[in-house]
Amino acid sequence: MSRVYLDNNATTRLDPRVLDAMMPYLTDRFGNAASRSHAFGWEAEEAVEKAREQVAGLIGAESTKEIVWTSGATESNNIVIKGVTSMYAEQGRHVITQRTEHKAVLDPCKFLETQGSSVTVLDVDSGGRIRLEELESAIREDTILVSVMFANNEIGTIQPIAEIGRLCKPRGVLFHTDATQAFGKVPIDVQAMGIDLLSCSGHKIYGPKGVGALFVRRRAPRVRCRPLFHGGGHERGFRSGTLNVPGIVGLGQAAALTGAEMAADAARIGALRDRLWTALRDRIEPITRNGDPQHCLPNTLNLSVHYVEGEGLMMACKDLAFSSGSACTSASLEPSHVLKALGVADDVAPSSIRLSLGRFNTADEVETAIDQITRAVERLRAMSPTYEMALQAGSLQRRTG
Ligand SMILES: *Cc1c(COP(=O)(O)O)cnc(C)c1O
Repeated sequence: MSRVYLDNNATTRLDPRVLDAMMPYLTDRFGNAASRSHAFGWEAEEAVEKAREQVAGLIGAESTKEIVWTSGATESNNIVIKGVTSMYAEQGRHVITQRTEHKAVLDPCKFLETQGSSVTVLDVDSGGRIRLEELESAIREDTILVSVMFANNEIGTIQPIAEIGRLCKPRGVLFHTDATQAFGKVPIDVQAMGIDLLSCSGHKIYGPKGVGALFVRRRAPRVRCRPLFHGGGHERGFRSGTLNVPGIVGLGQAAALTGAEMAADAARIGALRDRLWTALRDRIEPITRNGDPQHCLPNTLNLSVHYVEGEGLMMACKDLAFSSGSACTSASLEPSHVLKALGVADDVAPSSIRLSLGRFNTADEVETAIDQITRAVERLRAMSPTYEMALQAGSLQRRTG
């Protein structure tokens, strides 16, 4: 029995075409992109500049100078939240974010508060979207930054990004979006959407781990940022350190592929996700889908399988890889902060699982997943006293067959 990987929001398999692009830079072309005096350096620099074009192209950046290489989205988010706020501290020390952000935004924001900044964390509606009126009234004289993710990693909910950009721009507030999950999955246009800063990562788009990028707008406005790392002055001073050339080449190639294949992948993966949902919904009663189906990434399905623990379900589906509750806090077994923010009840949240599909999933794999999950839920519910009580209380239909 082969394993089925349905945890693509945690990380993805490296696309073989990405590995092919990287391989020369892991072998013969090992030069330092900052070496100006010989061909080893020049060819590395050329590869890095090509990757900059590929990433800039995927988000509609005006100039490749707006792309800064980092070690991943966590670092990109930290550069923004600490570095930009530090640069603009004289203008104000108020930041606005929202409840369902990744910890790589929420934790730096908590850190800012310990340094005397003030942070407003917006609530979300039951689908996980912020309310624009609440954002508008949260903006103050001293607000310098709004950080709202493009799409959520646990539930797939897509925020009203262009509308947020339209609120920020005329008020002179910088708009950052953690686009790690949206990058390559849905169209992004930093110009049309009024995005000033954008974080993304290689390993969520079939690229390598440990490399990411930060878009920093250079015009209208020119965004300034205090670096977190000081050193050789690489990346126009935003991020010192010898560039990870093979990783950057991989991220560039991954971005080019995901851009070229976005529409076809979204349609195919979206159809697989919809098949997964309708089949599980029809076979497992009661079950609820979390998030906002109208504004959702095509690949993500977050479910609460009532009367079953998400952790137990994961264990029972030995050949399937997916995650329960929150991927990042699942070690702690705390209910996910994202599901809490949606208002998912405390007794239901532990029953939640996230299935996230990707480029390499097949229709057969989805059928395998449907069968395994359905059978595991039947087994687990048969052993569940609360399920039995609910049946006897008449609040559930006893399933036959
Ligand atoms: C995965 C993820 C991150 C962290 O990215 P790394 O490149 O692994 O640091 C940040 N934000 C979101 C929304 C993510 O999904």
